[in-house]
Amino acid sequence: MWNQNKMEEKEVLIVGQGLAGTWLGYWLHKAGISFRVIDQPNPDGASIRAAGLINPVTGRRMVTTWMIDELMPFASSAYKEFGSFLDQQLIEDISVIDFFPSVQMLQAFQKRFDEDPEYLTPGDDREKYAHWFRYELGWGAISPCLLVNVEKLLTAWQSWLKMNNQLTESVFDLSKLRVTQQGVEYSDIQAGYIIFCDGKSSASNPYFDKLPFALNKGEGMLVEINELPQHAVFKKGMSLVPYMENIFWLGSSYEWSFENDQPTESFRIQAENWLKHFLKLPYRILEHFAAIRPATLERRPFVGFHPSFPQIGILNGLGTKGCSLAPYFARQLADYLRERKEINILADIKRFGKILTRPL
Ligand SMILES: Cc1cc2nc3c(=O)[nH]c(=O)nc-3n(C[C@H](O)[C@H](O)[C@H](O)COP(=O)(O)OP(=O)(O)OC[C@H]3O[C@@H](n4cnc5c(N)ncnc54)[C@H](O)[C@@H]3O)c2cc1C
Repeated sequence: MWNQNKMEEKEVLIVGQGLAGTWLGYWLHKAGISFRVIDQPNPDGASIRAAGLINPVTGRRMVTTWMIDELMPFASSAYKEFGSFLDQQLIEDISVIDFFPSVQMLQAFQKRFDEDPEYLTPGDDREKYAHWFRYELGWGAISPCLLVNVEKLLTAWQSWLKMNNQLTESVFDLSKLRVTQQGVEYSDIQAGYIIFCDGKSSASNPYFDKLPFALNKGEGMLVEINELPQHAVFKKGMSLVPYMENIFWLGSSYEWSFENDQPTESFRIQAENWLKHFLKLPYRILEHFAAIRPATLERRPFVGFHPSFPQIGILNGLGTKGCSLAPYFARQLADYLRERKEINILADIKRFGKILTRPL
């Protein structure tokens, strides 16, 4: 007879199915490690709202981003591999056309190009984009960059999980978690490990709230623009990123202090002014959204297991770079679980051993 109290046994319980939880699940599946995912879908989750861009050169000083020479090739082949597993095209090569918004940015581009031309091409044909845009200080190209279709990835993996009965769509309630000698118990699931991939929620999880999270709000829009080519990202401070036919993702803001997670009037005005000044084509705003990035004070991810509770892990702190960091560091966690391979010391939460071992 069916035993009502029978527990489902899994090696890993994953909380969250954004980029972090999706990649972790995939690598665990490949490693033959059993898992279940608990996720409460959020239409304004950071991953689902991301532009999907992996840009190797960013910031006011045009610096090459952390570990990018390792992360880019890894991401490129990982998304292709995951894409063929899901029978979806998830990634493409793309250039960012960077229209300099200020003399300082023009100079930063030139300086960086003189020192190290990798990824940069000066825009010699100054008028090349003048049919579509107004710009005064010229442009340069950043390439290769990668563009991930995050929504397609999350939706296809969610369907795969449902088909294989590995997804519970509900809010994870931490007060119901039981930490045992062998691992954890939650509802009718018994697992060796629980790994939190729950984005901003980890910042208020008593196991991890001492980590230096610095949540950051980002607002953006979906804008319909006919006749604008979709082969590149067009950036002038803010960016227009190809999203789907005739629709561009426009964004975004970076707000370190904010009252709530809702879209604001001030961003809408700023974005509309930007469109009016920059774009020569007609446009129609379809949607305005906001989401919270799980960013960190020292801009490094949080990966690994709690020093006092080795059955409780985390993959978080992906900040503004979830598309490149998630596949790489999820793989490190899976490799750790499979063969105790070391996690990169700069990402491993062991570095916060002292604060994490303080009483909860
Ligand atoms: C506007 C914007 C643009 C961005 N653009 C880019 C970009 O172009 N390139 C790039 O690399 N990065 C970009 N990012 C950053 C990127 O989106 C994040 O780094 C990444 O999405 C973080 O993924 P995550 O899985 O850690 O968190 P999330 O995407 O937030 O996923 C967490 C998941 O856990 C679920 N969850 C949370 N709490 C619970 C709970 N208690 N119970 C059940 N489920 C729960 C949530 O619903 C969600 O599904 C952008 C972010 C924003 C906001």
